[in-house]
Amino acid sequence: MDAEKYNRDVVLVCPTCGGTQFEYDKGVDETIELVKCASCNRELTKDELIRENSENISEHVKEIGGEIMKDAAETLKNIFKR
Ligand SMILES: [Zn+2]
Repeated sequence: MDAEKYNRDVVLVCPTCGGTQFEYDKGVDETIELVKCASCNRELTKDELIRENSENISEHVKEIGGEIMKDAAETLKNIFKR
């Protein structure tokens, strides 16, 4: 069982409590079907968890992307000032 390794590579967050520790129940073919939040015991299917998180992730990317654009604009302004 290498759930810890999986958990480190993909940071998934519980949509209920924001916890990042999950227990995994593997299906018959070794794929993870159900995850259970270690903090609030909410059970989600892997697909649900990924869907909830992909919304968070794309929000993050939007925010970070905006910051990068602002920084790049500032840097360009400073270059032209010199
Ligand atoms: Zn939770």
